[in-house]
Amino acid sequence: MQLTSLEIKGFKSFGDRVEINFNEGITGIVGPNGCGKSNVVDAIRWVLGEQKTSALRSEKMENIIFNGTRNRKATNLAEVSLTFKNTKNLLPTEYHTVTISRRYYRSGDSEYLLNGVTCRLKDITGLFMDTGITSNSYAIIELRMVEEILNDKDNSRRGLFEEAAGISKFKARKKETLKKLKDTDADLERVEDLLAEIE
Ligand code: ATP
Repeated sequence: MQLTSLEIKGFKSFGDRVEINFNEGITGIVGPNGCGKSNVVDAIRWVLGEQKTSALRSEKMENIIFNGTRNRKATNLAEVSLTFKNTKNLLPTEYHTVTISRRYYRSGDSEYLLNGVTCRLKDITGLFMDTGITSNSYAIIELRMVEEILNDKDNSRRGLFEEAAGISKFKARKKETLKKLKDTDADLERVEDLLAEIE
């Protein structure tokens, strides 16, 4: 699988549409302090579904929308798209090219898209689970994460191995199933109460 391009529009310092193409090999992004290099990484993390504003270096989600400059009006929509070439069919989908997009409006509404079609965040996280390309996986490593991994904060080292070994999706499914079982137990209890009342 290869990350081929990133499109950013109205996200943080990117008021105008910017497209970054990643060719084979290493791509480096260089520029003076404060020009927006880390915002590119934030954009990738965000489109992959990051919900924690602290991980995006923002106080609230609205702050990720371009808030204008002296010469340019603020925008009302932040939009990021990330495109992968699904070589080796690592992503469980029939598409050879996969584009995921996320939109966030100043009104607070948001949208996720998979190849241009509206979807749920769950569809995107499910698609990328165990590929190492989730918002909090080992594909995006910041300086603070290196420290967390070395200190094994919140069992983070184990989490990385689980993602690499491909068992995260089974853990997620187990959690979901246990929740359903708990809900079903509660429903059964309620039915039993009702039956007891009728009898
Ligand atoms: P450094 O090398 O110092 O780490 P950097 O190149 O990584 O810097 P970033 O941290 O990515 O820079 O970008 C910081 C810039 O992004 C600041 O100028 C900040 O004003 C701008 N910025 C952040 N959020 C927004 C926003 N919502 N609207 C407009 N500009 C924003």
